[in-house]
Amino acid sequence: MKYRDLQIQTQREAPNNARTEGFSFLVRAGYLTRENLPTKLGELSLDHLRNIGDKALSALSVIGNEKETFFPIASGDLDIAHCPSCKYTERLELARFQKTTMSQEELSPIEKISTPDCNTIEALANLLNIPKEKTAKALMYTRLSDGKFIFIVVRGDMQASEAKLKAQVGDIRTATAEEIVNVGAAAGYASAIGLKEALIVVDDLIPTSQNLVAGANEAGYHLKNTNYGRDYPAEVVADVVQAKEGDACIQCGNPLSVLSAVILKGEARVPARVMLRPYEENILLALAESHHDEKGLTLPHPAAPFDVYLMHVPGKELDTRAQAEEIYGELQNAGVSVLFDDRDERAGVKFNDADLIGCPIRVTVGEKGLKEGMVELKPRKVKENQLAKVDEIVEKIKSNLN
Ligand SMILES: [Zn+2]
Repeated sequence: MKYRDLQIQTQREAPNNARTEGFSFLVRAGYLTRENLPTKLGELSLDHLRNIGDKALSALSVIGNEKETFFPIASGDLDIAHCPSCKYTERLELARFQKTTMSQEELSPIEKISTPDCNTIEALANLLNIPKEKTAKALMYTRLSDGKFIFIVVRGDMQASEAKLKAQVGDIRTATAEEIVNVGAAAGYASAIGLKEALIVVDDLIPTSQNLVAGANEAGYHLKNTNYGRDYPAEVVADVVQAKEGDACIQCGNPLSVLSAVILKGEARVPARVMLRPYEENILLALAESHHDEKGLTLPHPAAPFDVYLMHVPGKELDTRAQAEEIYGELQNAGVSVLFDDRDERAGVKFNDADLIGCPIRVTVGEKGLKEGMVELKPRKVKENQLAKVDEIVEKIKSNLN
């Protein structure tokens, strides 16, 4: 491809909305607009990444599991639980972890207590001066498929995971005030005790947590010493809570980290219009984040959209551009992908753009070298130029790429 055909627009300054250096260089090098939309060069790079598939991932330090591959990045749109010790990795909302059971107690009799203005776990724990672990938290949903009321109980110090709940009961929505009243519950003061027509789901910690404080299904009142089994049954006992930073890894017990990440590969091919950003766009961002220096991108072969940045420095006596055109044709015939900077610009401008765009090898056709039958060859990550004979350039480049 030729520089002018791609209408590449490089920029001197980093965009002020750049959240990462990788994004900043993708904009400055003309792959993306400031609005994060691919340009012609960007589209071509995304097509290239689609074509080479998993090969692009080998140039990245990724984390993942057998279903999904992620790249940790501060601006990522997903929360991931990751164990630095054994590499267990899962979307945070689905991550499993080792739960700590409270010390076991004898079951005490239920006792109704007045708890005015205590419709949160925090307020309740404060009023009774007990840890949140000694309370039961209730969440209420309605199942989409059949309108069944779903009542979920988790320990008060835990956060319910809707993703895990959906895996147990199917798609759900938050229950309406009317639906809550109909099953005999009271919002803010709900418990699973004495409900009509509800499917009860309890987190697997609940059967081993005794004497919890739960709602009395009456505004302003709670029940002390509620116990799963003795006081209420459940159709489902399963892990339905979300892991958090520092929780014990399910595989090895070491503390989990919570990271922001983007997804690079998934089990099911999600249509681009459904996904916020297609996989290739995330891969391009991850490549830029992982492969740049202070001057621009340093994309590796084969992930780079072009292996060679070919340019000529306009001469006074020799037609350097014609020679560059010839090399362009030869490289293309040899199957090497080339971006030919065919502009009659100053060398400095072109060198800057070559550094920004970040092809693995730059080839410069200049008058001085050409008089000796030589061109300049510079791998992007190396400081020094090499000289190569014009008629050996194709071989030289091929050996540099391997
Ligand atoms: Zn682990």
